[in-house]
Amino acid sequence: MQLRDAIAPCGNSDVRRVGLMGGTFDPIHYGHLVTAEVVRAKFSLDLVIFVPAGIPPHKRGIKISSGTDRYMMTVLATVTNPHFEVSRTELDRPGPSYAIDTVRHFRKEFGTETEIFFITGADAAVEILTWKDAKDLLKECGFIVATRPGCSTGELERRLQEARLHSAHCICVVEVPALAISSTDIRRRVGQGEPIRYLLPQNVENYIHKRGLYR
Ligand code: NAP
Repeated sequence: MQLRDAIAPCGNSDVRRVGLMGGTFDPIHYGHLVTAEVVRAKFSLDLVIFVPAGIPPHKRGIKISSGTDRYMMTVLATVTNPHFEVSRTELDRPGPSYAIDTVRHFRKEFGTETEIFFITGADAAVEILTWKDAKDLLKECGFIVATRPGCSTGELERRLQEARLHSAHCICVVEVPALAISSTDIRRRVGQGEPIRYLLPQNVENYIHKRGLYR
């Protein structure tokens, strides 16, 4: 794993540190799980909360699996890690799942003594300045952006550099080799009858087959 941290030091070791792992998780796979665990250890997070998106803001009109299926798969995948939890907050909130609403939800729950880090993928984070109330969001929490191996980071770094002008928190990029696995590829494999074993936890694979997802 490589870590490029533009603002050091990253956080205060005395306060509680919580990561919010935002994503569609359709389906969740080992790339997501390795990302969460690597980031948890690297940033000394006490807890990582997986937050499956209800209606991803830029995916309105695009077919995704039901919130229930994505929530169930995320619970199955994370159940054995005592540092991982799953939240239904975006699934239960009507309308598009804006990160600002999610971060404020957890800020209210944890109070100001907790440092919050939003963890997500590069393709989503590159658009961060267009997210709803982006400048307020950047003031609320840090951002940890996971990239796939071989992913070109020039444009991402430019956008994050701009975002850093509005943030007092760390905005970091972490390369995670396990993110060579992708949800898109898993959906394609299932559709074409190819194996997905070892790309995601066995109980999630069983769930996909039992529910007939991605056929
Ligand atoms: P996406 O387009 O499905 O994912 C973007 C890329 O990042 C994909 O390559 C994806 O890989 C990867 N990825 C997604 N979540 C990841 C994670 N937690 N860790 C590592 N890689 C991850 O984007 P999305 O899932 O819809 O959005 C990501 C998050 O950003 C969600 O929480 C969403 O609500 C938030 N978001 C907020 C706004 C806003 O507030 N306006 C706008 C856009 C996105 P896989 O396909 O393999 O997962």
